[in-house]
Amino acid sequence: MVVPWESVVPELRERLGEKNYLAWIDPVEAVPTEGQVLLRVPSVFFQSWIERYFLQTIRTTVERYAGSDCAVRFEVVADRKAVRDEQDKRLAPEPAPKRRAPRIGKLIPHYTFDNFVVGPSNEMAFRTACSVCEKPGKAFNPVFFHGGVGLGKTHLINAIAHEMLRRRGRSVIACLSAENFMNQLITALRQDQMPQFRDRFRRVDALILDDIQFLSGKERTQEEFFHTFNALENGQRQIVLTSDQPPSAIVGIEKRLRSRFEGGLIADIHPPTREMRIAIVHAKAGRKGVDLPPEVAEVLVRRSGVSVRELEGALNRVVGMADVRSVPLTVELANDALGPLDSFRAAVSVEAIQQTVSHRFGLQIADLTSRRRGRQVSFPRQIAMYLSRTVAQASYPRIAQEFGNRDHTTVMYAVRAIEDRRSRDAAVDQVLVGIEAELREN
Ligand code: ADP
Ligand code: MG
Repeated sequence: MVVPWESVVPELRERLGEKNYLAWIDPVEAVPTEGQVLLRVPSVFFQSWIERYFLQTIRTTVERYAGSDCAVRFEVVADRKAVRDEQDKRLAPEPAPKRRAPRIGKLIPHYTFDNFVVGPSNEMAFRTACSVCEKPGKAFNPVFFHGGVGLGKTHLINAIAHEMLRRRGRSVIACLSAENFMNQLITALRQDQMPQFRDRFRRVDALILDDIQFLSGKERTQEEFFHTFNALENGQRQIVLTSDQPPSAIVGIEKRLRSRFEGGLIADIHPPTREMRIAIVHAKAGRKGVDLPPEVAEVLVRRSGVSVRELEGALNRVVGMADVRSVPLTVELANDALGPLDSFRAAVSVEAIQQTVSHRFGLQIADLTSRRRGRQVSFPRQIAMYLSRTVAQASYPRIAQEFGNRDHTTVMYAVRAIEDRRSRDAAVDQVLVGIEAELREN
């Protein structure tokens, strides 16, 4: 078969990069005949340069279009002197193609395992991530991480990509959002470059796709992703996905895709415990070169919600204010900087929480404020206390008072107990997420 050079060109251009293409391939005249492609080059030097850096790529590309073995030969054409002169002038500054393996998507440099705080809420996800790095494509495939917003999914998958590259520098890794994947698909469709698109994604050693829930209702992208997924899985390439919900709960995803997701390992990430949040806020401050006093860390953790992103936001505000005012980081400053957060949160009252929680568990508000001890009331009561603290931001003494004049240490104990259970028990987390959403809506 004679290779249709016009169809090879766009792909070569993509693979070699625009600069290399214009400098080295564009000036070449290609003469395809049966079983071979003759490249007429302007100089011997030109030929050796192409042979050295691009021949492998040219061969594999040509062969895909030839459908069988196809030789690539050279002929030096002296009358292309003008081109040659032009080329020879450019030789010195033209850099050799980068050695580093191509990568799809950008990694966030500091989202590494080193900076990832591990505890009960994410231990399972962390261990899974480690296995993936140790045996890509072999231990678990696909791997599906899910968890609420700001709980570290993007951080974790970036850490996986960094670690894979550290272990095997030549791996080709695609680490990108599902949205970016869709945009690349659309571009490829528009520019009539689907073969290149498919090739780009099917050549990777690992495909790491963030926020897969974005594909909901995007049928064309799901279709394409399905085929990519199958090709990679068959080739034992690692697939890692994240979503804000478990596969079973994402709406608008084709059944066949969903069942593929469910066929792999599913690991969930929960809101971090208090200890973890303290460790995280210290780690984040450390990265900024800020010496964070423990009592200020305490305030930050106490006054932000479950999301780590929110905690980071609080840290940034406090550090920012200290900078602007040129004052040290103190509890007073922290409370000052976080003031508006409080007034915003106060929109949810303790009473509203008592009402919502008692309703959800089929109780009366009086049950929550009573002295009754059975599990049926004590667990919902602890939940209501926890939410009074985390959502309504009421003080411990005030919560103690609102729940039948108890001792404030009882409230502190309840908040910690629920925080701990939430980080270990998916069912408890689920219940809390539901109640929090309801509170926000009302
Ligand atoms: P998600 O993708 O789940 O919405 P991100 O990965 O973007 O969340 O995390 C939000 C922020 O919280 C990031 O700055 C991330 O570094 C930080 N973060 C989350 N979990 C951890 C953790 N366990 N250790 C350190 N930082 C964390
Ligand atoms: Mg994310």
